[in-house]
Amino acid sequence: MIPVNEPAFLGNEQRYVREAMASGWLSSGGPFVERFERDMAEYVGRKYAIAVNSGTAALDLAVAALGIGPGDEVIVPTFTIISCVNEIVRRGATPVLVDCDADTFNIDVRRIEEAITSRTKAIMAVHIYGLPVDMDPLMALAEKHDLLVIEDAAEVHGQTYKGKRCGSFGDISTFSFYANKIITTGEGGMVLTDEPEIAERVRRLANLGFGPRRDYKVTELGWASRMGNLQAAVGCAQLEYIGEILQRKRTIGALYNLGLGDLKTLQIPLEWEHAQNCYWVYPVLSYRKTGHTLRMELRDRGIETRPFFWPLHRQEALDGRCMWDKCTIAERIAEQGFYIPAGTAITGDQIDQVVEALKEVA
Ligand SMILES: *Cc1c(COP(=O)(O)O)cnc(C)c1O
Repeated sequence: MIPVNEPAFLGNEQRYVREAMASGWLSSGGPFVERFERDMAEYVGRKYAIAVNSGTAALDLAVAALGIGPGDEVIVPTFTIISCVNEIVRRGATPVLVDCDADTFNIDVRRIEEAITSRTKAIMAVHIYGLPVDMDPLMALAEKHDLLVIEDAAEVHGQTYKGKRCGSFGDISTFSFYANKIITTGEGGMVLTDEPEIAERVRRLANLGFGPRRDYKVTELGWASRMGNLQAAVGCAQLEYIGEILQRKRTIGALYNLGLGDLKTLQIPLEWEHAQNCYWVYPVLSYRKTGHTLRMELRDRGIETRPFFWPLHRQEALDGRCMWDKCTIAERIAEQGFYIPAGTAITGDQIDQVVEALKEVA
C-alpha cells in the first residue's frame, strides 16, 4: 500500500531526543519545551506560546480561556474536525455552523454575518487542507460586531495569508502536531496569543489549574494537557527545517496538479490569489462516482486514501446541540471528496502510480 501520509525525518530529531533522554528531563519541565514554545512564538509572530499534548486540547483550552460559557454562541465552519466544537458544547454554549466555499473548502465568509445574533461571542476561523480562510473580511466582521476570534491553524504551519503568518490572527490561535500535520511531534499541540492574561490562564488550565507558585492551590478546574520534553525535542528539530518541509509539500502538490490537471472527472485543489496552497493534504472531488466508490477502487490498486471531514451538522454526537442554516456544499463535498497520499516521505514513483491509478478509475 502507498500510505496516505508518511512523514520523513530529515533533521536533528533523533539527536535532540537522545539529548533529552540523556538530560533526564522527560516531563513538561524540560528545556526543549521552553525552546519549542519560544521558537514557535517567534516563527508565527506571537508574544506567548503554550505547548500542549494535542491540537484538540489546544482548542479546548482556547475556548475555556476566552470564557465562552452557557448561552453564548460561537460561529464555526460545519466542514471541519469535531475538535473545534467539543469544549463549546461541553460548556453549554452553542456552535452556530456555517457552510463552506465549494472551491477552497473554507468557511464561506459571505455567510457569517447572517449567523451573527446578540448572543454571538466568537468566530472560529479554521484553515482547511492548506489554504487559509479569507481573513480580512472575517476580521472586519469580528471588529464590527465586537466578537472574539479563535484561529485553528492545525493544517497550515508556515502558511501565510496576504503575507501574514497563519496562527497570528485573532485573540488566540492553535496548532496540532499530530503525526500527519506539516510539522509533527507524534502527538502535540500549541496555543498562541498576544494577551498576557489569556496566556497565563491557558498555562494554568493546561496544568491542572496550578499557578506558577507550586502550592497546589486551584481556583479553576483544568486538565493535564502538558507537552513532554521528548515531544518538544522532535518539534524543535522539525521547526528548524519547516521551510524545506513546505517546499516538499508544494512540490508534491505541483506534481499532482500536473498529472491530474486534464482529468475532467476530478476537481483538484485551487491556487489562490491570497496564498500559495501548501497542500497539507491533496484533496480531490470526484464528479462521476461517489468518493467512496473511487476510494475502494484505489484501495484495490494499493493506494490508501482518507474521506473528507463529516460535516458537523450531520454528526450524531452533536444532535440538538448546534444551530445552522442550509449547508448543502459541505454535504456535497463530504460525499465526493477524499485525499490521496501526500506525506513528505512519498517518492516520485509513488506519485506517478497514484496519478496513473486515478486516471484509470476516475
Ligand atoms: C488535526 C486537527 C485538529 C486536532 O488535532 P489533534 O492533535 O489530532 O488533537 C484540530 N483542528 C484541525 C483543523 C485539525 O486538522
